[in-house]
Amino acid sequence: MKITQVRSHVLRYELPRELGYSQQYYKHRSAHIIEISTDSGLTGWGECFGPGNVAIANRTIVEQVIQPMIVGRNPLDREVLWHEVYNLLRDHGQKGMPIQSLSGVDIALWDLAGKILNQPVYQLLGGKFRDSVPVYGYGMMLCREDLPSHIARFKDEAAAIRDAGFMATKMKVGLGAKDDVKLAAAVREGIGDDFPFMVDANHCYTSNDAYYVGRALDELNAAWFEEPVAPEDLNGYKELRQRLTTPIAGGEAEFTRWGWRHLIEQHCVDIAQPEVCALGGITEYLKVLALAHIHFVPIVNHVWGSAIAISANLQLLAAMPPLPGGLFPSEPMLEFDTTHNTFRDELLSKPLNIHKQVAANGGRVTIPDGPGLGVEPDRSVLERFAISK
Ligand code: CA
Repeated sequence: MKITQVRSHVLRYELPRELGYSQQYYKHRSAHIIEISTDSGLTGWGECFGPGNVAIANRTIVEQVIQPMIVGRNPLDREVLWHEVYNLLRDHGQKGMPIQSLSGVDIALWDLAGKILNQPVYQLLGGKFRDSVPVYGYGMMLCREDLPSHIARFKDEAAAIRDAGFMATKMKVGLGAKDDVKLAAAVREGIGDDFPFMVDANHCYTSNDAYYVGRALDELNAAWFEEPVAPEDLNGYKELRQRLTTPIAGGEAEFTRWGWRHLIEQHCVDIAQPEVCALGGITEYLKVLALAHIHFVPIVNHVWGSAIAISANLQLLAAMPPLPGGLFPSEPMLEFDTTHNTFRDELLSKPLNIHKQVAANGGRVTIPDGPGLGVEPDRSVLERFAISK
């Protein structure tokens, strides 16, 4: 069997409401879906992290740089292909867009492998530890509104996410350290004392400001403090970890085993958040998983994007060994974006219906059992939202 084509589908639509996080406001939702065709007629699907114009640039890397390297090759040789592609890209970018592009291609090769062998990806990974996973819902995005409006909205949204059945919730911060503490207090007030909440800064603080916010989060009993400082600021991460009791999470902006090595070996994070659609795909994710386990760092995958990205993560979460083991081990959670996302809700021919599953199944979602990722995109949706070349 041979690979015959590697295609990028870059999709976009205008959101009903502008959303924001600490780095920018955005009006469009986009997705970058990868399709690998073979001479057998089987097709593999993957997804690359990287929104907006980044996706358009990554399309060129996928179709003009990676495709010529792997067309004509056996799709089951995914480890060989990963290393060949990485070796040639390494001189031109060991992080960022080349690796995001490789990630989507690699995920599509895993989907294909599952279809060729008629097995779900979790089976290729060694089997599943669980049939379903708990889900946490994030929302509480920043908007162009004043602090009192933010506070009122965050309080209501947090309570609504709890009432929708999610196991925990996550908020954005980024208005400035003092205002952010008020936002976190509003969320705690909205959900009550016992419901877990997490705080995502998207690396907007100096370590000093992060410490100020982190002390308030200690008092509010936050479940984790995510990306408090710049991903390059390993010393900032280490200092915060030593000084705060709230667990420090991060890693979504890190790439490959070689990037992750520094975060893990220097004890920068209590919780590692690898992004499979960015760090190098499933092939590389497995190396990062092993590295995290060597150092006993629990993993909660970073999940963002369309239903393809969610499905890839469901396969990984099914196959993730408990760390540490026990009769009642802590379980990996699925990260779920509760904001408007047509590519999550309408892309698949059989939707995952995560909102409904969460409400009906005590905050849990079932792992798809079909071959590969276990899902198929609806081609009419791919065509309807495609950005033309
Ligand atoms: Ca994040």
